[in-house]
Amino acid sequence: MREIKWFQLDVSKVLSILGSDLEQGLSSKEAQIRLDEVGPNLLQQRKKIAPLYIFLEQFKDFMVLVLIAAALVSGMLGEIADAITILAIIILNAILGFVQEFRAEKSMEALKNLAAPTATVLRDGKIQSIAARDLVPGDVIELEAGDRIPADARILEAVNMEIDESLLTGESQTVSKENKILEEDAGLADQKNMVFSGTAVATGRARAVVVATGMHSEMGKIAGMMQSVEEEETPLQKRLAQLGKWLVVFCLLICALVVLTGILRGEPIYQMFLTGVSLAVAAIPEGLPAIVTVALALGVQKMIKRNAIVRKLTAVETLGCATVICSDKTGTLTQNEMTAREIFCSGKIIKITGQGYEPRGIFQWQNEIYDYNSDQTLNRLLKTCALCNNAQLKEPKKNGIFAREGKKENWQIVGDPTEGALLVAAAKGNLLREKIEQREQRVWEIPFDSDRRRMSVVYQNTENKLGSKIVYVKGAPDIILNLCQNVEMDGNSIPLTTDARQKILQENDRMAAEALRVLGVAYRKLEGNEGEEMEDLESKLTFLGLIGMIDPPRPSAVKAIGVCKNAGIKTAMITGDHQVTAQAVAQELGLAVSPDQVITGKELDQLSDDELNERVNNLAVYARVSPKHKLRIVKALKYNGQVVAMTGDGVNDAPAVKEADIGVAMGKTGTDVTKEASAMVLADDNFATIVAAVEEGRAIYDNIRKFIRYLLACNVGEVLTMFLGVLFSLPLPLLPIQILWVNLVTDGLPALALGVDDADEDIMQRKPRHPKESIFSHGLWAKIIISGLEIGLGTLLVFGLAIYLSNGDLVLARAMAFTTLVIYQLFYVFDCKSEKHSVFEIGILKNPYLVLAVLCSLLMQLAVVYIPALQPIFKTTSLNAYHWLLILLLPGGKMFLKAIAHYIVKPICRKLIYLKA
Ligand code: ADP
Ligand code: MG
Repeated sequence: MREIKWFQLDVSKVLSILGSDLEQGLSSKEAQIRLDEVGPNLLQQRKKIAPLYIFLEQFKDFMVLVLIAAALVSGMLGEIADAITILAIIILNAILGFVQEFRAEKSMEALKNLAAPTATVLRDGKIQSIAARDLVPGDVIELEAGDRIPADARILEAVNMEIDESLLTGESQTVSKENKILEEDAGLADQKNMVFSGTAVATGRARAVVVATGMHSEMGKIAGMMQSVEEEETPLQKRLAQLGKWLVVFCLLICALVVLTGILRGEPIYQMFLTGVSLAVAAIPEGLPAIVTVALALGVQKMIKRNAIVRKLTAVETLGCATVICSDKTGTLTQNEMTAREIFCSGKIIKITGQGYEPRGIFQWQNEIYDYNSDQTLNRLLKTCALCNNAQLKEPKKNGIFAREGKKENWQIVGDPTEGALLVAAAKGNLLREKIEQREQRVWEIPFDSDRRRMSVVYQNTENKLGSKIVYVKGAPDIILNLCQNVEMDGNSIPLTTDARQKILQENDRMAAEALRVLGVAYRKLEGNEGEEMEDLESKLTFLGLIGMIDPPRPSAVKAIGVCKNAGIKTAMITGDHQVTAQAVAQELGLAVSPDQVITGKELDQLSDDELNERVNNLAVYARVSPKHKLRIVKALKYNGQVVAMTGDGVNDAPAVKEADIGVAMGKTGTDVTKEASAMVLADDNFATIVAAVEEGRAIYDNIRKFIRYLLACNVGEVLTMFLGVLFSLPLPLLPIQILWVNLVTDGLPALALGVDDADEDIMQRKPRHPKESIFSHGLWAKIIISGLEIGLGTLLVFGLAIYLSNGDLVLARAMAFTTLVIYQLFYVFDCKSEKHSVFEIGILKNPYLVLAVLCSLLMQLAVVYIPALQPIFKTTSLNAYHWLLILLLPGGKMFLKAIAHYIVKPICRKLIYLKA
């Protein structure tokens, strides 16, 4: 099929070769057969990383290689038990690392599937949205501005279709496409009736039939150019990798010092060699980068549960720093369920009753039922609403699944809610597009776009061939008025005077102040041959009237704006609506705004960049702006050092979304191009989801701090135990195997569990973190060093006492020091849950994973102490109750005091204060 020159054939020929139909598309059965035959519409996928590969990767780590060398040396010196134990520990470590990385890999994989593109396709005569990978040759697809073209296709019908083919041809100028037959041979760039997989629709709409999918498409032929989800390291990961290098050097120095001192003191060289290696392995936080990745990836999964799909891992970090969220109003802050409420025409204010998209309601004038049939102008206005419209009204299914459960299914619309509302209003006046189109046919169209703020169509009467053509226009009232020469009053067209215009604008303001979105409606009969020159069509129009619709705020958005206020995050609302509407909606949303916080697109145009930089911090509502303004807003905010989240849906929003620190795309209404530019996609288009993601972002950062504190403090404790031990001329407190074991038991599961810890309750009451802030700021280093000292000295104290009390029983003393070190860390992990609150305030059992991890580690430790078969390997001996008393004395005592403070002292204090007051 690839040899056919589709661009030289006419549409019916193309369709017949492909066995498809313009009105019906393919049947879903046929599509399935073809899918099995040609395979999915995918470019060659990156090879999946095999689990075995991830497992083997674990052994590439430098420290692991050192350990393997140590095991070999032990083996050659005849210390078979040592060698085997070290190997066992290496394998356990590898399994742990494997689990961590495998999870990370899996969640990244899941992410990619979520971000998978969809296609709008005609099958069984119905328009539906399917995964782009299921497209097959012969499928009839619909394309719209902002769509990424899912497969190579031949245009069937096109309206103003412009395509950005730069990805394929390198040519940045957009190319217009239409359905015409090309005679001669044409290169890719000249095939004006073909669209190619991977290119993007800049403007317009089209229907096309798929001719090649997957690797057979032009893009498939140059595969490898496919854009992929970014897997760049985040700034935090980079900085930690840097820090890791310094820590390695530092740890190695200390280890060398311990080894040297030991040897000078006359310890056996082999013993000291193993000690040095083990200590280095224990001290170097080799798990850190992996756990950071896991924490980020798990955070991403939590975000998905809250409808935020992260496309770039860096966004997870940046989210926590967000200081300004710039959000589109319509659909993100509001419900985007529009209902027309009021019409102003022929000087009358006519109210419309009814709820939602159900076409049931009446017209009222001066509190009386209004007979719409007798009003010619109202009828024409409603007709314009119905015809200058690309939405579709969907009747609820009579026997829908909800009907059985006693729930009522609602009327729904497909397409733009604004147009849906107009369609419903027209239907209430008994004007249906399908019916009108039996007599009149659309011959020309410019769809709505937020830069032009209007939509126009031309209809022709089909009953007589020379039938008159009429242009119907609707859009923002100020724009429509500027195109009008006349105004229709009670069926008569009269010149539009300045007074009449003034009166209309007044009504517009009145409706806008009630938070209504207002559209103006106009038309013109075209004379004879007129209509060949498209530019002239939208001029000399006759104004019909205004129609105002409500779009209630999302209750969750109102709440989220409140949360933002507490969290030190500013919300800015961006809309194409009139400033009066915008301000009224802002008020309803709880965005307290004074007039100087509102700015319009026009005013923005008059500000220089410097002036905008100065004012931008104070602005909260941007009205009548077009997408191009968004980029300026982002730049000005960034200039002021703000960390900006910016939402977008249309193609023209993509540059601003890309420029923002956190680009946010709409999952439902967003275009492919904007989604690709974004760092995060909102599955539900809801503002509250952005705020939820910010909260998760903050929580993830907190968690990373938590386990860094835990891991480093524990490592400092382990190193100090050994270092101070040799310094104080004590025997070696721990044997190499024991050090390795401590590292395994404490670094693994508990640290991982901290990575999924719950957020602090006050997490959204703090100010945003500065993006340049070090992960160790706010005294984290001090906490690490102090806790490390405590753990080290505490362990040494137990060791020293044990030697003294047991008259030099080194095996027992080491078993006790060994256990103390582990127990200390298992207690300490609970301290790390919060930097401000004690664990009792948060609740010990709050994070079940942590409790499980600690229990698991405890059991492992008890196993090596009590199981007779393991005792000789780990050189341990059973401990009795007195030993445990000594072990638990410090860490347990501290915990006990905290419990007393929380459960006894605090309530008493509170009572006292209460009594006093
Ligand atoms: P928003 O960013 O709030 O969605 P838009 O840019 O979509 O705003 O709309 C701006 C203005 O354009 C609206 O106030 C309305 O007057 C007009 N408008 C909106 N949708 C349409 C449409 N489908 N057809 C014609 N005009 C529209
Ligand atoms: Mg809109």
